[in-house]
Amino acid sequence: MTTPVYENFINGHFLKNQTGDTFAVKNPATDEVIYHVEIADEFIQNAAIESAKQGFAAWSAMTPIERSRILLKAVAILRERNDELAKVEVLDTGKPWQEAECVDVETGADVIEYFAGLAPAQVGQQQMVGNDFYYTRKEPLGICAGIGAWNYPLQIACWKSGPALAAGNAVIFKPSEETPLGAIKLAEIFIEAGVPAGVFNVVQGAAEVGQWLTANPNIEKVSFTGEVGTGKKVMASAAGSLKDVTMELGGKSPLLVFDDADVSQAVSAAMLGNFYTQGEICTNCTRIYVHKNVYQQFIDELKTRTEQNIIAGDPMDPEVNLGALISKKHQELVLGYIDKGIQEGATLLTGGKALSPASAPSGYFVEPTVFVDCKDDMTIVKEEIFGPVMSVLVFDDEDDVIQRANDTHLGLAAGVFTKDIQRAHRVIHQLQAGICWINSYGNSPAEMPVGGYKQSGIGRENGIETLDHYTQTKSIYVGMSNIESPF
Ligand code: NDP
Repeated sequence: MTTPVYENFINGHFLKNQTGDTFAVKNPATDEVIYHVEIADEFIQNAAIESAKQGFAAWSAMTPIERSRILLKAVAILRERNDELAKVEVLDTGKPWQEAECVDVETGADVIEYFAGLAPAQVGQQQMVGNDFYYTRKEPLGICAGIGAWNYPLQIACWKSGPALAAGNAVIFKPSEETPLGAIKLAEIFIEAGVPAGVFNVVQGAAEVGQWLTANPNIEKVSFTGEVGTGKKVMASAAGSLKDVTMELGGKSPLLVFDDADVSQAVSAAMLGNFYTQGEICTNCTRIYVHKNVYQQFIDELKTRTEQNIIAGDPMDPEVNLGALISKKHQELVLGYIDKGIQEGATLLTGGKALSPASAPSGYFVEPTVFVDCKDDMTIVKEEIFGPVMSVLVFDDEDDVIQRANDTHLGLAAGVFTKDIQRAHRVIHQLQAGICWINSYGNSPAEMPVGGYKQSGIGRENGIETLDHYTQTKSIYVGMSNIESPF
């Protein structure tokens, strides 16, 4: 059976490359090639820049309220096509349908809707300076590049394009080569909604295409989501033309469970924050610090619920709540970390092996895995695994656990479970992380800024402040009296 071949999406339509080079995309749950995608060669790259220049000229000349109206149409189409788009995400990523159906498209649409609403509300300032005055204008940056990871492909494309387009910029987006289709669907929807051709372009390929974007002098900003190591390369490359950058990178986030916490709620949070999207979420609380007084209760309930309530299998089955990892290579990486945990002396409470469910026997599944008896210096406790692998640690002193939680170069997220409201705020204020939850974990509404401390990132996505990251301020001084000059 021949599979479809998708071309790059440039200037409002699909455009064939000249080299004819393509790459294959597999369904992680079946190990089968589902389609091919053309790689953005030099011809496509040049066309993308020219298209974005024209798109920017048209889009930035429109009033914010016109842009807002068009973006809201795109939001309506995204919601109408929820199921079709959710299926694309399930087949590309291996994540369960029961997640994609209510999260991926919806949270993407929410963010575009949020920024569409804010666009007309952006104002400059005006101030008198004696008889003279100045005023400021918030102007778009120009062409912005978005580079996405593979775990939430459509959502990431929406989160980057929402504020960029609302502020009047044009975008060239490169999805991960593991999951290229969601961004193409979004590009088609933008055109259908009335976004002018050239405003949102999708280029396809691996690292080389990303490198071209980060180095290209016509691009004013790069918003990147991916690994810390790649983020450093992107930033170094962007420095060559002093591009603005937003970096949404990895994490190794702590969840602190105090002895007055509702233990069942804390177990729910720990499971959500390690097994949702089969553990492939950047904010996951992969280091769970549990107070010694509730430790046994916590791990007993965790083991029972993990062994009884998780259903792995064909991700399109609405009952399935644990999908396949993104690739064979990633499955091996995650299993390698599990071996390392065992070698370094952690105890497997449950899981630890590859899985081959009857309904998806060739998929890249890994059992939901919990390690106990973990120590802070173990590899599984220090490094981001990006799979369903949780490490549980014990503590008995508040100051000590804060110090342990902060002892990492990463700082994406953190959580605290306690019924003591003073302790909740006191502790969370001391945790070095950009996204924090109290008696909750993982919720990320469009209104709330998200981003990392330390090496987990630079800048923010979502929330009011993000719109400013897609504009530049022009100050205009107006003289109202004769110029005083010594010449
Ligand atoms: P990678 O860093 O491997 O890749 C991210 C993107 O960058 C991909 O599109 C990739 O292309 C591209 N890329 C790779 N090398 C370069 C380069 N030198 N220059 C420019 N672009 C390049 O991340 P993953 O896709 O593996 O995603 C997982 C990581 O993303 C995890 O660390 C996770 O924590 C992080 N993440 C962070 C989030 C956040 O908001 N903080 C959210 C989601 C994920 P290709 O894949 O095609 O090779």
